[in-house]
Amino acid sequence: MAAFPMWIGGREVTTAQRRTVLLPFDGSVVGEVFEATPEVVDQALASASAAARVMRALPRHERSAILRRAQARLLASRDEMARTIASECGKPIREALLEVDRAVGTLGFSAEEAHRLTGEVVPLDASPAGVGRMAMTVREPLGVVAAITPFNFPLNLPMHKIAPALAAGNAVVHKPASWTPLAALRMARLFAESGLPEGALNVVTGPGGSIGERLALDPRVAMITFTGSAEVGMRLRSLAGMKKVTLELGNNSAVIIAGDADLEAATPRCVTGSFAHSGQVCISVQRIFVEASVRDEFLERFAADTRRLRIGHPLDAQTDVSSLITEGEAARVSEWIEEARQAGGQLITGGRRMHRATLEPAVVAEAPDSVRLSCQEAFGPVVCLNGYHSLEEAIARVNASPYGLQASIFTRDLTTAFRAAQQVHVGGFLINESPQFRVDQMPYGGVKQSGMGREGPKYAVEEMTEPKLIIWNT
Ligand code: NAP
Repeated sequence: MAAFPMWIGGREVTTAQRRTVLLPFDGSVVGEVFEATPEVVDQALASASAAARVMRALPRHERSAILRRAQARLLASRDEMARTIASECGKPIREALLEVDRAVGTLGFSAEEAHRLTGEVVPLDASPAGVGRMAMTVREPLGVVAAITPFNFPLNLPMHKIAPALAAGNAVVHKPASWTPLAALRMARLFAESGLPEGALNVVTGPGGSIGERLALDPRVAMITFTGSAEVGMRLRSLAGMKKVTLELGNNSAVIIAGDADLEAATPRCVTGSFAHSGQVCISVQRIFVEASVRDEFLERFAADTRRLRIGHPLDAQTDVSSLITEGEAARVSEWIEEARQAGGQLITGGRRMHRATLEPAVVAEAPDSVRLSCQEAFGPVVCLNGYHSLEEAIARVNASPYGLQASIFTRDLTTAFRAAQQVHVGGFLINESPQFRVDQMPYGGVKQSGMGREGPKYAVEEMTEPKLIIWNT
C-alpha cells in the first residue's frame, strides 16, 4: 500500500498513527497517511515561521517563477493527479481532470498576481497639514497562513489558498481533509521540485478537530483561511482572536426559472449544476423555483435528463455520477428525501440507495420550504423543484435561506433579470447560467452563513496581505 508521509520543512515526516484512504465507490484502499501529533504541528509551524522570513524577502519575479514552474509540473502530471483525485474523493474522472485543469489555471492567475500586487500613492496635500509630504501604501505579506480545506475539491480548493499565499510572500501550513489528503501531499512535492524554499509549504494530516484548533490558537499563525462547513468555520472564527479569517462555507443554491426562460438551454445547465460530483459542491443547485406556466414542462425536461445520467465507477470515463464520500452521507441524504416525502413532497425520480455510498440522482417536487431538504445544505444528488406565481414570491423563497453564496435566474427579460440580481442576497448572482458556475479568477465568496472574504487569486492576495503606509516629509 502506498504511504504518503506529511511534508514539513522540505522533508517527509511520519508518525506511528496511520490512517487508510479509501475509494468511496468500492471501499478499495488508495493509500495510507499519518496523523500529526501536537509536536509535528509545532514543527510545521516553526518551519513555516522561519520560511515566512525567506518568502517575504523573495523578489516578486522569483515567487511568480516558482508558481509558473509548479504549474508546468502539475500539467505534466495531469493524468496521475486526476486519478488520485478521482480515487480519494470518488469524483468521476472527467470532473477530476477538469479540477486539475482548473488548478493549473489557479496557479497561473496567482503567478500573475505576484507581479501585480501593488499599493497606491496617497495625496497627502489634500489636507493643509499634509503639504510638503508624499505618501504611498505597499502591501506586505502577513507571515504564516494556516489553510484548512474540505474533501470535495482536494486539489483546486487548497490551490486557491496556497498559490495566492505564496504569490503574496507568505508561508503556509495546510491541513487537508482526512478523507482526501493525497492530492495535496503530491502537490507539495511538485512545489518543492519547482524551487519553493523549504518550509514555505507544510502539509500536516490528521483529525481536523485537534490540528485545526491548534492552528487557530497558535500565535505564530497570522491568518486562517478555511473552506468547509459553516459549523466548523464559525468555531474557528470564535477561536481565532485577532488573526485574519476568511471563511468559504456552505450553501443551498437556488435557481429561478422565469416563465419566458429558454428551457432548452436552462435544463442541461441545471442538471449538470445539480448532480456534478453527486451534488457535493458548495454551489450545487439544490432548489429550483419555476414560474407556474412552465413548471410542468420544465419538470418533465429536468427529470428526463436526470434519468439519463450514467451512474458508475469514478475511474470509468463514461460515468456522470458516482458515489458520495461515505455511506453515512448517503444514508443522511436518503433520510432527508424521505422526510420531504412524508411532509408532502413528491419524489419524481431517483433517490434509490445503490451500492455502498452511491445514491441515484433524485428530484423532489413541492417539498415544503421548512423541511431539511429545502432549508439546509443537502450536499448530495438531490434537487427540490417548486412552482411559483410571482417573481416577488420566488425571490423571497430564495432569500429565506440562512446561506448566500451564489444564486441565479433564467429569463429573456432584462428587467426581471436585474430586479432579481438586485434583490437576491448572495455573494454572486448569475443570469442565464447555473449558480454552480465558477471560473477561478472571479471573486468568489458568500454572505450570511456562506462565509466572509473572497477567493480568486486577485482577491485572495488582498486578503493575505496588509497595507503599510509610508510617509516622506520632502
Ligand atoms: P468540514 O467537515 O467542515 O471539514 C473541512 C475541514 O475542516 C477538514 O479539513 C476537516 O478536517 C477540518 N475540521 C473539522 N473539524 C474541525 C475543527 N473543529 N477545527 C478545525 N478544522 C476542522 O467540511 P467537509 O465535510 O470536508 O466539506 C463540506 C463542506 O464544505 C460543505 O458545507 C460545503 O458547502 C463546504 N464547501 C464550501 C466551499 C466554498 O468555497 N464556499 C467549497 C467547498 C466546500 P477532517 O477532515 O480531519 O475532519
